Amino acid sequence: MAIADGLKAVTARIHAACQRAGRPASEVRLVAVTKYAQPAWIRALLELGVADLGENRPQQLAQRREEFAGAPAALDDAADGPRWHMIGHLQRNKIKLFLRHSRILHSLDSLRLAEELAAQARDAGPVDVLIEVNVSGEASKGGVTPAEAPRLAEAVAKLTPLRLRGLMTMAPLSDDPQSARPVFARLRELRDTLRRAGAAGPDCHHLSMGMSNDFDVAIEEGATLIRVGSALFEGVDGEPA
Ligand SMILES: *Cc1c(COP(=O)(O)O)cnc(C)c1O
Repeated sequence: MAIADGLKAVTARIHAACQRAGRPASEVRLVAVTKYAQPAWIRALLELGVADLGENRPQQLAQRREEFAGAPAALDDAADGPRWHMIGHLQRNKIKLFLRHSRILHSLDSLRLAEELAAQARDAGPVDVLIEVNVSGEASKGGVTPAEAPRLAEAVAKLTPLRLRGLMTMAPLSDDPQSARPVFARLRELRDTLRRAGAAGPDCHHLSMGMSNDFDVAIEEGATLIRVGSALFEGVDGEPA
């Protein structure tokens, strides 16, 4: 299989899910998660027009960004290279490294991290952040509880140059994608509640949810950013990195 086939299959699933949900496909952005990808596969994706790439570890994000260039870009920046999304837990001692390579953090999970990020980003310019919410309550998952989210959202809204752009969650691992539906629906409701209560502004509309096995359901429940790795790369010729 070639990368183009993996991308075609994912794109077809995106369009089918949007159609079922009555949503325009332009509302859903594919973030290709490259943590297990070979450099040649990433190059192929970029040539095919994928502009958003994600990594879950800051060191690897830094390496990749140096290899594939592009300026550190925020969500709505028209970058001349790929936009790199940090999708995994960010330790405070890695903030500087993160800021050298990215302006998009999906996994903001504490006020301390937000405050330090804001302080260190002062000279770097706007940083788009999403609050990671542990909707399922699994101990193994990162993120704040749904009950904690409003307070963190209100605090982040005051922390220039951070821009609160939405919420992110991970559904529990399961063979049945439908089991993720209540988790995704809950994240959407939480976003809507934050906006109604004024804890988050109109720019806070993104929902980062859905991975290879459940992004169809996530799109039906309102996902605007889907984080997809293995569905793009599984079965592609060559060994994973
Ligand atoms: C690896 C990863 C993904 C992608 O997972 P796949 O199942 O390979 O699509 C999405 N989100 C996060 C936070 C990840 O670490």
